[in-house]
Amino acid sequence: MGRSDRPASYIGRFAPSPTGPLHIGSLATAVASFLHARQNEGEWLVRMEDIDPPREVPGAASAILDALERFDLPWDRGVLYQSTRTEAYRSAAETLLRTNRAYRCSCTRALLRSQQTSTAGPEPYPGTCRTKQVHERSTATRVLTSSTPIRFHDLLQGEQSRSLEATSGDYVIFRRDGLPAYHLACVVDDAEQGITHVIRGVDLLESTAAHVHLQQTLALPTPSYGHLPVIVNDVGQKLSKRTGAKPLDLAKTSIVAFELLRQLGARPPSDLRGERPRTLWSWAVSHWDSGGLAGRFELQQPQENVAEHSRID
Ligand SMILES: [Zn+2]
Repeated sequence: MGRSDRPASYIGRFAPSPTGPLHIGSLATAVASFLHARQNEGEWLVRMEDIDPPREVPGAASAILDALERFDLPWDRGVLYQSTRTEAYRSAAETLLRTNRAYRCSCTRALLRSQQTSTAGPEPYPGTCRTKQVHERSTATRVLTSSTPIRFHDLLQGEQSRSLEATSGDYVIFRRDGLPAYHLACVVDDAEQGITHVIRGVDLLESTAAHVHLQQTLALPTPSYGHLPVIVNDVGQKLSKRTGAKPLDLAKTSIVAFELLRQLGARPPSDLRGERPRTLWSWAVSHWDSGGLAGRFELQQPQENVAEHSRID
């Protein structure tokens, strides 16, 4: 898929991983990014992040697309499947290796664990293989980080600054098993698709520092980012499969869509209750200020390390 001939001033996207059916948390991300794109008269693309076969569930990709259709969320252009893009990711990694901005790493998980100095959680990669020339076993590829903070402005969370060296250290862009890492695939494809705006869950805020870093390293443009507060359940847990979020009831899309708008902070008039999602989205495009999401929920601190996470992108 190439870039459009006509440069759009707004191209947004929803990029789910096919690790299960769409649940209310991922639907909220889809709806918020869709409405934000439509409010800005932009395009809205769907990208299937199917680069991690061991975690994928057969049939999940088509189930997600089916759910988006049932919720009246039509995407522009064809769906981009990341499983078809391995050569582009490999080429980007090779460029970084050739120019000494990435290196091969043969550390095993067991070795990295044994080097940990605390039990508080994953520590930044200590750079063990930065200067190693010979590797006796299969390798991952890591990109070099530095002590220079990565700064970006978030549309919903304000100014951000992160030191990757202190949080993740040099992070993996190609895994030892030969699969591309999420950060690399995401950044290469955002550039390929000409994405200008990324609206996604705040659980990915830490990943965004890595994405901005990779964009700078690969000389790719940085889109505008807005990280949505995560919708939480009654006991403050993020709604996901792990915390028991039920699959969406596709027979009740009108009710689900109406409640979802309310959870996003919109106040659809009660006479719209029972209307098709399409009608609710039209109302929201002209009546709801998505910028108001910023103060809508208490910011949930991400629990996951930048290098290892499960996600809704
Ligand atoms: Zn290593």
